[in-house]
Amino acid sequence: MNYEFTDQQYVFQENIRKFTRNEIAPLAPVIDREHRFPIETLQKFGELGYMGFPFPEQYGGSGLDTICKAIFIEEVAKACASTAVIMLVHLGAGCMPVYLYGTEELKQKYLLPSCDGRYLAGFALTEPNAGSDNSNLRCSAVQKGDKYIINGEKIFITNGGYASYYITMVRTNPNIKGYKGISTLIVGKDAPGLVVGKPIEKMGLNGSPTVNLTFEDCEVPVENRLLEEGKGLNVALGVLNGGRTVVGAQGVGIAEGCLEHTIAYVKQREQFGRPIASNQGIQWRISEMVAQIEAARLLVYRAAWYEDVKHPDAMVAASLAKWYGTDAAMKVTTDCVQLFGGYGYCKEYPVERYMRDAKVTQIYEGTNEIQRIVISRQVLGLR
Ligand SMILES: Cc1cc2nc3c(=O)[nH]c(=O)nc-3n(C[C@H](O)[C@H](O)[C@H](O)COP(=O)(O)OP(=O)(O)OC[C@H]3O[C@@H](n4cnc5c(N)ncnc54)[C@H](O)[C@@H]3O)c2cc1C
Repeated sequence: MNYEFTDQQYVFQENIRKFTRNEIAPLAPVIDREHRFPIETLQKFGELGYMGFPFPEQYGGSGLDTICKAIFIEEVAKACASTAVIMLVHLGAGCMPVYLYGTEELKQKYLLPSCDGRYLAGFALTEPNAGSDNSNLRCSAVQKGDKYIINGEKIFITNGGYASYYITMVRTNPNIKGYKGISTLIVGKDAPGLVVGKPIEKMGLNGSPTVNLTFEDCEVPVENRLLEEGKGLNVALGVLNGGRTVVGAQGVGIAEGCLEHTIAYVKQREQFGRPIASNQGIQWRISEMVAQIEAARLLVYRAAWYEDVKHPDAMVAASLAKWYGTDAAMKVTTDCVQLFGGYGYCKEYPVERYMRDAKVTQIYEGTNEIQRIVISRQVLGLR
């Protein structure tokens, strides 16, 4: 068993780490406070080739693997969880379906400008009454001539308002329940009848806009469909493992970033005439956090490797990585706030932001309860 990154992966890690330290970390508290989309960061990502690095060179990418994707999201999330989620949706559920299932024409139209930074991608699956049970979605698309007419609503859509297009799951056959009645369409931001709502006010991830999308007789060309009608599940499955793995990486990054600030704090904060780090109770807590992060990290990189080698246990590995990585983020950030005492509860220090940002990672990309269901179904051989 080899725990080493390749030379290429180490160089990639070093480069994104440097960029994150210099460009993203100083901006993170600003975009959180101002609830502002980090447009300048995305422009720089475009210039440096980060907007499409997992895709082949012919589409403007660098053909890097899932391990590099996990490295990228971990490093970015250490400094800014908002920027990490913008990118994980763009690279994953946004661009990946176009690459895996799009015609060459669709790849030229949507993937190419996504890789060079002109386009940002979004993914629209969740509806007000179809969250964890997304096979029950109602948003409908009816074919009329060479167009689909979409009606319905999507909720909680990341990159909403900034995305150039949304990979949108719709019911094309109202008579077929479940996934077999669902298809996938690319809906351009200028599609007639697409209404983008105002950003939802959230607990955290304030730099990442989350909106509702309403489709009012929204028109989309038939050629914007990915795969045949009724193949929505295939598209979802194609992006599932990679998506869950990198949300796990986001959790690990959040926990690491928060712990870094905390280690510096406990070494300089003095009570009872000595640094609080000299208390064994505090030292043990730090050790426990390190153990949680390392365990989660190993699960994340194993899942990324399983995804790259198409291992038969890739689905379970991705669910374990997502569940443990994000639970570690919540536990570690909560404990970090505790170690800061009253200052941890104040916006003057960054740990409360990490804690607010960590919470949602346990909820999106399939809640951690749903991950338990995925794992137990596989292990027990249930359908
Ligand atoms: C900030 C943010 C960004 C998001 N971005 C996107 C996006 O870009 N695109 C998109 O499509 N969606 C997005 N989502 C939606 C997200 O994926 C859903 O919120 C999530 O899947 C949960 O669905 P729900 O909110 O409807 O909760 P529900 O499904 O109603 O779940 C409520 C609770 O019940 C539990 N539960 C449900 N079913 C079971 C069960 N069978 N057994 C045990 N427990 C169960 C859940 O775990 C949860 O604790 C985003 C959400 C947020 C908050």
